[in-house]
Amino acid sequence: MMTLPPLEVLRPGSVAEAVEALRAHPGARVLAGGTDLVPNLKYGMYDTRHLVALRGLSKELRYVREEGGLRLGALCTIDQLAENDLLKARTPALAEACGQIAGPQLRRMGTLGGNLCLDTRCVYINQSYFWRSALGFCLKKDGTLCHVVAGGKRCVAAASNDTAPALLALDAGVRLVSPRGERVVPLREFYLPDGLHNTVLQPDELLVEVRIPPAAFGKKQAFMKLRTRAAIDFPALNLAVALETEGAVVKSISLAVGALAARPVLIKGIDDLVGRPADARFAEELGRRAQKQCRPLTNISVDPDWRRDLLPVLVRRLVLRALA
Ligand SMILES: Cc1cc2nc3c(=O)[nH]c(=O)nc-3n(C[C@H](O)[C@H](O)[C@H](O)COP(=O)(O)OP(=O)(O)OC[C@H]3O[C@@H](n4cnc5c(N)ncnc54)[C@H](O)[C@@H]3O)c2cc1C
Ligand code: SF4
Repeated sequence: MMTLPPLEVLRPGSVAEAVEALRAHPGARVLAGGTDLVPNLKYGMYDTRHLVALRGLSKELRYVREEGGLRLGALCTIDQLAENDLLKARTPALAEACGQIAGPQLRRMGTLGGNLCLDTRCVYINQSYFWRSALGFCLKKDGTLCHVVAGGKRCVAAASNDTAPALLALDAGVRLVSPRGERVVPLREFYLPDGLHNTVLQPDELLVEVRIPPAAFGKKQAFMKLRTRAAIDFPALNLAVALETEGAVVKSISLAVGALAARPVLIKGIDDLVGRPADARFAEELGRRAQKQCRPLTNISVDPDWRRDLLPVLVRRLVLRALA
């Protein structure tokens, strides 16, 4: 049986107390729903001695507000967002993404903030300490090499959070609070290409709110996910699109793909497709462009060639669904 290491759990009653607790206890980790953090602690993936539990902040950080767009508190549960009528009407891609995260129990415990700050995943790290020790560990924890990229100097564990591509496609931002004050960071600048720590979050910083601009509301949008078992699995690929059309013509495109490497990506170099008819040929061309930019790796236990082959198929289906 895998057990938790000895830990002191700190229970702040406000955001200000929470970030102060993080500052006062270097190496402390934030505990929201705990659906990912707790298994990782049992795997011995972190050396932390302190957890800063956010349950006491539920009143402060569990809200969905329409205010110059949408504002979502970090402690909204995934289940709450999947079922929210405002989200279903305004940002269906996000509601769909939430509805496809894990299984029902985990969606009830898991939070939006925890999902966006989810640690990267890899078939060589999400294993027991014993398993990893037998392999000689790896760059992400206790070791010096990467088992995915021979000679690799940077961890390429996969960003596996399903809300991330949906919110990227919708051009959302996140509000971060630390003892030094607060800042709002566009999501496209939030993630870093480093599986050891794949966000710009500082150790004493808390993600408190997600902001979705009103421009997202009018867009045709959809989310899609490839996974082994539809009932519970993490993504083998996740994609979201947000399109603006004028008549039958494409006016703007935003396509995000995740579960590849350490950060979800926005597909680039597609502006020349603006002005084309919004039809099946457009959807196919977008799929081809996405495939050129995405290289699935052996960081998860799903065949990378299969993921690569399926990518244009999924993009085509995703775009046609958004347009329909
Ligand atoms: C069997 C299984 C299947 C799963 N399937 C999926 C899936 O399909 N898709 C998916 O996206 N996820 C999946 N998950 C992961 C997880 O359940 C969800 O991502 C969930 O939303 C995480 O939220 P949480 O509140 O439980 O995060 P926690 O586990 O509490 O925290 C996750 C990380 O975020 C940090 N953190 C949490 N909140 C904040 C905050 N406000 N500010 C700063 N840092 C913070 C924590 O310190 C930790 O590092 C799965 C988990 C399991 C066990
Ligand atoms: S990508 Fe490499 S360094 Fe990162 S967790 Fe996997 S094996 Fe370890």
